[in-house]
Amino acid sequence: MNQYQTADRTGHNTPVYDLRSDTVTKPDEGMRRAMADAEVGDDVYGDDPTVNRLEARLAERLGKDAGLFVPSGTMSNLTGLLAHCGRGEEVIVGRDYHIASYEAAGASVLGGIAICTVPVEVDGGLSPIVIRDELKPDDSHKPISRLVSLENTHNGMVVPLARVSDVASSARDCGLSVHLDGARFFNAITGLGCAETDLAGLGDSVSVCLSKGLGTPAGSVLLGPSDIIDRARRYRKMLGGGMRQAGVLAAAGLYALDHNVERLAEDHERADHLAKTLSKLEAGQVNQATNMVFLTPRDELNDPLRAHMEQTNITLGGGSNGLMRLVLHKDIDDVALNSIVTELRAFFG
Ligand SMILES: *Cc1c(COP(=O)(O)O)cnc(C)c1O
Repeated sequence: MNQYQTADRTGHNTPVYDLRSDTVTKPDEGMRRAMADAEVGDDVYGDDPTVNRLEARLAERLGKDAGLFVPSGTMSNLTGLLAHCGRGEEVIVGRDYHIASYEAAGASVLGGIAICTVPVEVDGGLSPIVIRDELKPDDSHKPISRLVSLENTHNGMVVPLARVSDVASSARDCGLSVHLDGARFFNAITGLGCAETDLAGLGDSVSVCLSKGLGTPAGSVLLGPSDIIDRARRYRKMLGGGMRQAGVLAAAGLYALDHNVERLAEDHERADHLAKTLSKLEAGQVNQATNMVFLTPRDELNDPLRAHMEQTNITLGGGSNGLMRLVLHKDIDDVALNSIVTELRAFFG
């Protein structure tokens, strides 16, 4: 049974609140208008003025030479890794970072890149000491260590700037380059309260998703030095990610940069409110960071809670090992949050 069937059965047209992820956000009126009005050209020829504007604007904002618009965050990371590393070279990355755990080992499959995973520390960052330990000697038995890949935010956690800076400078001392998977870069900036260039400057390349909290239907941008972005552009074509009149999508990105960055603070506040409510209700173990709330209810409550929420058209994320994920985003406003809190109170109260 899905959420829409519930609405049919009750005969009520109750709204559907989807807390699985911030990727579920739908483009609103203003964004759709910007998309419809976009000036376009063939981006594979470099002729799409809106794509060019988006790449240039984000590059300037983050203090990088150039940008590359790609269909997804996965392709952004992959083109970045392929641009940094050759076959038989290695990227060092956190074990449960997205690149190591949720990208089907694309860098290994398609690029012959070894993925060396290291434990993620409690603050979501990596340890400079562990990275030094993993560094391979110049030895024909070993891959060549080339890159460290960081992630911020990680599971909603804002990795402190000092930690990122420590790891990045230690990596550079070892001759490694640094990639930053900033799928939720602007959530990290909102949490850190620092300048965008302060965080972006710690990575040679940075990947930013437009289709999560920023609310576009698709698209990510890889930012970095010209030589890396030129190489990544060739890989984008090779991977089938060269799009033609992509300005309709880039226009959504430009709109999001103007309208949906500052409002991320609201998602963080609502997540905080939701977490405090769950704690007060003694719902289980609760963790909250930026726009994400994680709840581990008492074992016997897991299925009933999920069923109760489904019945009222509220979809929770997570599921494996009893951990529930509730993600706040643009399409959950205060009215939605109040309904969600009411249903949680009804269940636990
Ligand atoms: C979502 C996400 C990605 C990949 O984005 P897709 O657009 O889903 O391919 C990469 N890294 C992190 C940390 C993410 O959360």
